[in-house]
Amino acid sequence: MAHTSNTAAGVDNTFRRKFDREEYLERARDREKQEAERVKSKLKGPPVQRKPLKHRDYEVDLNSRLGKTQVVTPVAPLSQQAGYYCSVCECVVKDSANYLDHINGKKHQRALGMSMRVERASLEQVQERFEVLKKRKTPGSFTEQDLEERIIKQQEEEEQRKRERRERKKEKKKEKAAEDEPEVDPDVAAMMGFGGFRSSKK
Ligand SMILES: [Zn+2]
Repeated sequence: MAHTSNTAAGVDNTFRRKFDREEYLERARDREKQEAERVKSKLKGPPVQRKPLKHRDYEVDLNSRLGKTQVVTPVAPLSQQAGYYCSVCECVVKDSANYLDHINGKKHQRALGMSMRVERASLEQVQERFEVLKKRKTPGSFTEQDLEERIIKQQEEEEQRKRERRERKKEKKKEKAAEDEPEVDPDVAAMMGFGGFRSSKK
């Protein structure tokens, strides 16, 4: 009898969900098994051995773009966006202090294959370092080769700067020439009836 009244109402909302103990127990077992496997596979891999920290062998370029103007669009590649670009981590840092923090930081060093551990220096290394610093302090101890090397280096840098300046000038000249040049060829202009074009320029 109840059946007929239910179908008349259209929806049976007197149904109460029952907790299927067996089914959920089965699911729980599956999940536990999967988790155990995942942990096992994680443990299986050998621990990654990273090298201890090394000091930089290059000069950090922080101010080559100082005072320059650059048009930045959101669609430009990361390396051409505002700020300092790290090609290792492919990220942009907004200012020089943060850039330094970044390249000294854990994430960056990890990308370079280094842990943050520092190698313990031996007695010989410390002594060597003292010798180097002592040499640097006494001005008379520069060998001639040192001096020559430094002079050559300076000359190279100067030349590089000159070359860049020259190229910049050339580019500016080119731009200016492109601006000055009339868009219409003078001969064509004369043919088209702009006779005064040429004479007015003279
Ligand atoms: Zn980085």
